[in-house]
Amino acid sequence: LRRLVLVLGDQLDHGASALSDFDPAQDAIWMAEVDEESTHIVSSKQRTSVFLSAMRHFAATLQACGWPLLYSRLEAPNNTGTLSGELDQAIRQHQPQKLVMTAPGDWRVLQSLRSVAHAHSLELDIRDDTHFFSTVREFAEHARGRKQLRQEYFYRELRKKTGILMKDGQPVGGQWNFDADNRASFGKSGPGLLPPPSRFEPDAITQEVLALVQQRFSHHPGSLQSFAWPVTREQALSALADFIAHRLPSFGLYQDAMWEGEVWLYHSHLSCALNLKLLNPREVLAAALQAYEQGHAPLPAVEGFVRQILGWREYVRGIYWTHMPHYAERNDLQAQAPLPHFYWTGDTEMACLRDAISQSLTQGYAHHIQRLMVTGLYALLLGVKPQEVHQWYLGIYVDAVEWVELPNTLGMSQFADGGLMASKPYIASGKYIDRMSNHCKGCRFNPAQATGEAACPFTTLYWDYLMRHADMLAQNPRMLMQLKNMNRLIPETRQAIAAQAQQHRTAMHWGAGHPAT
Ligand code: FAD
Repeated sequence: LRRLVLVLGDQLDHGASALSDFDPAQDAIWMAEVDEESTHIVSSKQRTSVFLSAMRHFAATLQACGWPLLYSRLEAPNNTGTLSGELDQAIRQHQPQKLVMTAPGDWRVLQSLRSVAHAHSLELDIRDDTHFFSTVREFAEHARGRKQLRQEYFYRELRKKTGILMKDGQPVGGQWNFDADNRASFGKSGPGLLPPPSRFEPDAITQEVLALVQQRFSHHPGSLQSFAWPVTREQALSALADFIAHRLPSFGLYQDAMWEGEVWLYHSHLSCALNLKLLNPREVLAAALQAYEQGHAPLPAVEGFVRQILGWREYVRGIYWTHMPHYAERNDLQAQAPLPHFYWTGDTEMACLRDAISQSLTQGYAHHIQRLMVTGLYALLLGVKPQEVHQWYLGIYVDAVEWVELPNTLGMSQFADGGLMASKPYIASGKYIDRMSNHCKGCRFNPAQATGEAACPFTTLYWDYLMRHADMLAQNPRMLMQLKNMNRLIPETRQAIAAQAQQHRTAMHWGAGHPAT
């Protein structure tokens, strides 16, 4: 065998760089399903199923092309259970002269495959992933010499480099960013009739995977009844077209809004297909730009969408690869509390958390503000150890791959990286959630109260967080307003808040721990 081309579960594209010079007469492709990828963190049933089903569908397309494929199935009796074990076996059996792969999305996986190549004294040719607009080298170049990194500046650089939403060297519409137009709520009357999400009924391959996961990982979180994610390129393209036609025009305005029981709203739900590489971000943005040019979607919606993909997605990847492996260990605020048990069940009286967690468990999905300003915010305010929060996010969501999940969780949401990724901690009281949703209407807690029986834990913990971290926050000019408000509280109120926060923390501490461990 001349070359063995390694294709991981999140590299499912015939056009991947590793396959650019594939010669079926001399080369073979290696793919492996292994338990380790579902157990190194506790992976939810939805997440494991998405990966396995998409891998099996992709394998079928390779076979249809007549491309030689070595494929380890999870349930095969001789499966070693690890990527390194499976690769080691394949190398022994097929004696390739060289290994080729596209840069993986996970530092841990890179190390383990590298060490197998090394043990066999085989060259491992690692190629750039063309499913991004920038390379990690470009990000490192951008970061060099800067005192502070900010998504906005990298985003602008990429707008200029790609020409996306640019005219004569200037941003289309005269401004780089329409963030201020992206913050509407659904008001009192609610979202009204929402476009239905794209759903893909499980075919025979998916059904087999769902049964396998249900049996093999029965104790893992989540459920599979509603499984309907795109798992093929055709389905991913159809999901993209559906988003452009029905949700993109309102995407911008309602990007931050939440509504009880409404999972999908105007979001794209494309992160999973993008991260598995069933879609290329270039075609996704081309479709959004075409909708703008044809007058189908307004500029603030299209710019808002472009910013998420060309801005945030590229930025977090740069942060991850330029700061691993130490990044994963950071805990600058020294948060040590365990993750409350209800994160694994949704069983809590706090209506917003119950809604966000329940849908995360049943669908493997929550939109950005639910992740940042509900589940993430609560963990931050409670003082949960960031590594526990990270493991939860990495395990639960169908779109979770470490390069994107870790900076979002540890950096943006938990502010555990000392402000490397975000300019300030994203903190707010229960009033923010009240403004952006209808959760508080049906909740037994009152977002306006910080103390007493009916006090909203978000509000209690928000003030307590400001008090606990006042010295650190005072260094940050963007926090001055919030600190000023805190300083207005009289000492008795502060004491009462601190006592109530401590009581809440103790109660949550006793309810910590994952049922499967
Ligand atoms: P839309 O709202 O429709 O956005 C469009 C696309 O923009 C997304 O599909 C995604 O590809 C990209 N995008 C948006 N925001 C971000 C962001 N902050 N970082 C990177 N890309 C972004 N995203 C993941 O893909 N995987 C994760 O594991 C993940 N974990 C997160 C954890 C936390 C704590 C937070 C706060 C955010 C996380 N995100 C993650 C980012 C974001 O929440 C999801 O990309 C988004 O909710 C996916 O839903 P969607 O496809 O409907 O996105």
